[in-house]
Amino acid sequence: MSGGARPGVAYLVGAGPGDRGLMTARSLELIATADAILYDRLIPAGALDGARPDAELIYVGKAPGAVAMEQEETERVMAEITLTGRSVVRLKGGDPFVFGRGGEEAETLRDAGVPFEVVPGVTAGIAAPAYAGIPVTHRDDASAVAFVTGHEDPSKPESAIDWPALAAFPGTLVLYMGVKNLPRISERLIAAGRDRDEPAAAIERGTHPGQRTVVATCESLPGAVAEAGLGAPAILLFGLVAARRERIAWLEQRPLHGRRVVVTRARAQASGLAAELRGLGAEVIELPAIRIEPRLGSDEVAAMLADLHTYALICLTSPNGAELLFEAMAAKDLDARALASATVAAIGPGTARALRGLGVIPDIVPPRSIAESLVESLREVDVQGRPVLIARAAEARDVLPEALAERGADVDVVPLYETVRDGASAEAIELAAGADYVTFTSSSTVRYFAETVGPEGFPPPARIVSIGPVTSETVRELGGEVHVEAERHDPGGLVEALLADAETAEST
Ligand code: SAH
Repeated sequence: MSGGARPGVAYLVGAGPGDRGLMTARSLELIATADAILYDRLIPAGALDGARPDAELIYVGKAPGAVAMEQEETERVMAEITLTGRSVVRLKGGDPFVFGRGGEEAETLRDAGVPFEVVPGVTAGIAAPAYAGIPVTHRDDASAVAFVTGHEDPSKPESAIDWPALAAFPGTLVLYMGVKNLPRISERLIAAGRDRDEPAAAIERGTHPGQRTVVATCESLPGAVAEAGLGAPAILLFGLVAARRERIAWLEQRPLHGRRVVVTRARAQASGLAAELRGLGAEVIELPAIRIEPRLGSDEVAAMLADLHTYALICLTSPNGAELLFEAMAAKDLDARALASATVAAIGPGTARALRGLGVIPDIVPPRSIAESLVESLREVDVQGRPVLIARAAEARDVLPEALAERGADVDVVPLYETVRDGASAEAIELAAGADYVTFTSSSTVRYFAETVGPEGFPPPARIVSIGPVTSETVRELGGEVHVEAERHDPGGLVEALLADAETAEST
């Protein structure tokens, strides 16, 4: 990496073809640090999630038919903002210099005396075929590849495209922006001498969750595409390599391909689970039914910080609790040494991981990530008459404090955060309604999800996956049925259980 966005510099940045995982490390670094971001329509979903909360986000894309901002206007705004001394990222789909008008923008910036840098991106013409199992070059089939625009109308006499040259091109033809003109493109290529039986492919929404691919021949592709109802954005490809898909297709082989899974964790927590599911091929809908609201300003927190060094035992029952405890400590210039004399217990591996990241190796992690199991594991710890801290969410069960109090401990329960209901877009709710799986990682996610989707939406028609017995009980209380319950009560265990279920469903 090369540092963040510098003031007074414009960055022409490629965001890749749609899969967020294909964004470069450099693009993420610049998005995270830029003062302003001008972005297009064809950028990956969630590409701007890492932007600074105070960054100015300006949409300059065009929906088909409608114009959001003219090209000249975009270039002018970009130059203007940069000249005020701010850092500007111009984020474009794919690669900025491949049919992205990045060249023109660079020249305008140069003429305006604005310093700029270019960050290449993964271009759709390579990525969409790759996700379809089609290599654009191949030792036996194609020793050259041409990137071509299919945007212009091939029937107009002044066509800039040299059809005879393209037809004679000894390799793969990759066409951008061509679906609408496909019938004429196919016709013109054949008329100019391209083999009508040559394999050809169309890939719609390449690298996005719903990517669709059609393989046919140069002559039959228009019919096949019309029949399948493929539309923009799509890549068209003509060449022997298209036939390789039969052997190389891999996307469809992934264990959760074609499954839509709803992740209902709080916003701050959802990404790990969502990423893991996406990696297995699932289309993930994040319905962050709940959100973490820190409560670090309370008197209880102030008292806890003053007494921190006196606790004999400190129990943390969530990664959020661990992180917020350290956040509260940092505000008082305290670090891990403030916990030096205490026994530290984490309820499960996620909390333990968070603690290790903060410089504390927990002394106790119970075999099952539930309060009852933690109580069991704490049996050997002498708490009689000693101060014990339980730092956790405001609305949690009382199993742990009660059990410790019964053993004579002087228990302080300190709420560090609340989980509050978060809104969800109508679009996310609709997508969730058509999901194959809905996952729940705590009782509060169940309750808030039920509230978010309303009585019509709960129980959802999907199969319900629960992280453990307590969460399952809440699902049943609300009238739902639990189809899958994780044996290991952490996100990894939940994914395993879901996978096993998907496999069974496959074989029946
Ligand atoms: N700069 C971009 C291309 C912009 S032109 C790049 O390097 O990828 C827009 C065209 O790109 C679309 O009409 C379509 O042909 C293609 N395209 C962009 N994203 C795509 C995707 N995810 N799948 C298929 N084609 C895509």
